[in-house]
Amino acid sequence: MTVLEAAPQVGGKLRLAEVGGVQVDVGAEAMLNRRPEATGLARELGLDLVHPGTLSSRLWTRDALRPLPRSVMGVPADLEQLAASGVLSDHGVARARAEQVIALEGDDVSVADFVARRLGVEVVDRLVEPLLGGVYAGHATELSARATIPQVVALLERSLSLLEAARATPTPSDVPVFAGLVGGVGRLPLELVAAGGFEVRTSTTVRALRRVEGPEQTRFEVLVGPTTHPELIAADEVVLAIPATPAARLLGDLAPNAASALAEIDYASMAIVTLAFRAADLVGLEGSGFLVPPVDGRRIKAATFSFNKWDWVREAGGGLLVLRTSIGRHHEEASLQFADDELVAQSLADLALATGISARPVDSLVQRWGGGLPQYTVGHLDRVSRIRAAVAQVPGLAVCGAAYDGIGIPAVISSAERAVARLLHPDTP
Ligand SMILES: Cc1cc2nc3c(=O)[nH]c(=O)nc-3n(C[C@H](O)[C@H](O)[C@H](O)COP(=O)(O)OP(=O)(O)OC[C@H]3O[C@@H](n4cnc5c(N)ncnc54)[C@H](O)[C@@H]3O)c2cc1C
Repeated sequence: MTVLEAAPQVGGKLRLAEVGGVQVDVGAEAMLNRRPEATGLARELGLDLVHPGTLSSRLWTRDALRPLPRSVMGVPADLEQLAASGVLSDHGVARARAEQVIALEGDDVSVADFVARRLGVEVVDRLVEPLLGGVYAGHATELSARATIPQVVALLERSLSLLEAARATPTPSDVPVFAGLVGGVGRLPLELVAAGGFEVRTSTTVRALRRVEGPEQTRFEVLVGPTTHPELIAADEVVLAIPATPAARLLGDLAPNAASALAEIDYASMAIVTLAFRAADLVGLEGSGFLVPPVDGRRIKAATFSFNKWDWVREAGGGLLVLRTSIGRHHEEASLQFADDELVAQSLADLALATGISARPVDSLVQRWGGGLPQYTVGHLDRVSRIRAAVAQVPGLAVCGAAYDGIGIPAVISSAERAVARLLHPDTP
């Protein structure tokens, strides 16, 4: 098996970099612990899992850092706690209390439609949006309820009242929600490659893919290399583990229906700004960080106090404490059209407003993720079915990655396992 990777390094959105001499994640930094795929792979590789020291995240909204009320992906589980948090205006709380009980729609609708009709716009703006922003960098008015908040849609199967079903949802067990790796989850792909069993060619962009009839069997030809030195690689089977946009380009002739459905999947760009401070300059920063609802009009959409969240980050820092902010949502590419220094300055300005900390960092790093996060817009599940059906028409071909069944690391690994299973056993759904 050969992995052809366009970038100079493996890992995609899992990436490590040094800030202030401390090696940290500058892409994904946590793996959901309540699904087995990512933690299972880490264990198979002999890696020790660690869990966040704190998960108490807050919301920076209505000019204060406020406790994140208990919710099922933004649907309040405790209205009294919500009211006390000050996250919603009195009017917003009253509107949520006066829930409109509406039966489950047959068709997919947007997250905003789904939640606002039942609980009011403020629940969407100040509770659901920041949570969605953290995961998809997308907008509730466009994202699919069925694809992005299935746990909320499923509440209606338990009670016609979203509030009642959210209230009855058991408080999470003691099993930690997230897991990480000492040294960062960016180690996962590196360790996988080091474990061997397959060849990796980095800086090798696949430019075209076609099927050719041979005397004995039909094979794929994969075109790589610059136009001046093209190289054709023969393959019996191909898994496209790349984002939807390049996948659409490669499948134009081979699976045109898949290509057109893939081309419908849009991407959000964002940047992670990592900052290293002297420990003495960050006294009093508590919790794992905060989320920012877009309606508050701030530059940053979240801050993660990595040194509080992960013991290993604190220990690796020696006298330095590392934290990060994220900037950029879907359709807001203009918010990234600044030099790195300016994105750092914007992050510091927002951090100062939110926390009162106005120290200068000793080092910073801006990692841009252009087209980093696929948008599961209304109709996504149907779109993915169309893609899979069209790809299934091409024997020996499979697709996987964040564009399909979930953008988190475990979901992506699961989609890769499914792709391989389909090649080994073509009757796999
Ligand atoms: C900033 C950020 C933070 C995140 N945080 C978390 C988190 O904490 N936890 C979590 O679970 N998820 C997180 N995610 C989501 C998760 O990291 C990604 O959805 C997931 O890693 C994507 O994996 P993938 O393999 O589908 O795509 P990618 O990681 O994008 O990998 C695709 C690879 O394909 C290569 N490629 C593209 N085109 C070609 C071509 N033509 N030829 C050859 N190679 C090609 C690319 O170079 C890339 O390496 C985060 C995402 C981002 C952007």
